[in-house]
Amino acid sequence: NTVTEFKRLKPSAASQSARRAAAEKQRKVLIAGGAGFLGSRLCSRYLEYGYEVTCLDNLSTGRLCNLKQQSRNPKFTFIHHDVVNPINQKGRYDFIFNMACPASPPKYQSDPIQTMKTSIYGAFNLLDVARRSNAKILQASTSEIYGDPDVTPQTERYQGNVNTVGPRSCYDEGKRAAESIFHDHRETYGTDIRIARIFNTYGPGMDPLDGRVVSNFINQALDGQPITIYGDGSQSRSFCYLDDMVDGLITLMHTPGTHFEPINIGNPDEFTMVELANLILKKITTLSRITYSDLPEDDPKQRRPDISRAKKYLGWAPKIGLDQGLDRTIAYFKTETSQDNLSNPA
Ligand code: NAD
Ligand code: UDP
Repeated sequence: NTVTEFKRLKPSAASQSARRAAAEKQRKVLIAGGAGFLGSRLCSRYLEYGYEVTCLDNLSTGRLCNLKQQSRNPKFTFIHHDVVNPINQKGRYDFIFNMACPASPPKYQSDPIQTMKTSIYGAFNLLDVARRSNAKILQASTSEIYGDPDVTPQTERYQGNVNTVGPRSCYDEGKRAAESIFHDHRETYGTDIRIARIFNTYGPGMDPLDGRVVSNFINQALDGQPITIYGDGSQSRSFCYLDDMVDGLITLMHTPGTHFEPINIGNPDEFTMVELANLILKKITTLSRITYSDLPEDDPKQRRPDISRAKKYLGWAPKIGLDQGLDRTIAYFKTETSQDNLSNPA
């Protein structure tokens, strides 16, 4: 019964359930894409819980500086590997996160074929590891599977409005296909899957050069450069703070039950890009002024998660609002050195 399970999971559902699994000697987790923004935080959290953590990453958008602390832990292993290729190493895992895929539009659009292959071959290859290991596996899906949504907020039942042949298709359609592959693996082999539809996430550890809106606006304001709003800035996004997202993903992985269907994980507070720019300008003393340029093709006009399913099944809801989350993110970007700004070569 999900309600009883949910009550049992409160409070700090994520850490308690993950620690319980560790105590039951299910201690091995594989995090594909573990050198990235979200994956590296998952690596730290599982090391804190006492797991053996294997990070598998091709370092295309991930950064070794994200793994400085984790690498000092003897329970941490790094494997340099591209998930497009079969994963033949013999490790066995209890839990697998498939976080491997660039999330930033300029990054995933810079090599669309590789992006599509990463989502599709990566899903097959990691599901094969899950099957060999009898592991539970979570797919990092995305709000992008809703495309440019014509309903708001987006529930998991909304089937989306996605262009198959635009600049975002490699990511959106790749992630949609990955959800189908996960679903079919479940149907065919009984694989224990979870699918998290992740909405825009920000926070300390972001790559300052990732080209996404939160990192761009903060760094532009800190550098006294123009704040680059694309379009008229009336398009909206709903921003989730990193810690809330990581809690949501861990809770989804460890909540007992059969939650095989996709679940939105995000913060439903919605902001236009003009509102975001002004909020950042209020927080940073700067000479920066807003400039406007063309809206990229197929840029979604709105995005806001309905998180009723996550609340009901997981007892999860975000705790940190944009105001507080931005303060912490700005503090992080202020301390980020130019050395750390460099992405590692693949
Ligand atoms: P990120 O770009 O920081 O991390 C992705 C990681 O995957 C990087 O370390 C990269 O090197 C690695 N990677 C990419 N292609 C790979 C490949 N072929 N083989 C092995 N490793 C590969 O992105 P993130 O923000 O940490 O996102 C993590 C996951 O969450 C992604 O799957 C992304 O699609 C999903 N997601 C993120 C957001 C967000 O706002 N951050 C929103 C929706 C979905
Ligand atoms: N955006 C912007 N200025 C920037 C970067 C992005 O106005 O410097 C806009 C972008 O057009 C989109 C929104 O901010 O409407 C969010 O963009 P991001 O790349 O962060 O994420 P996504 O589009 O994938 O949600």
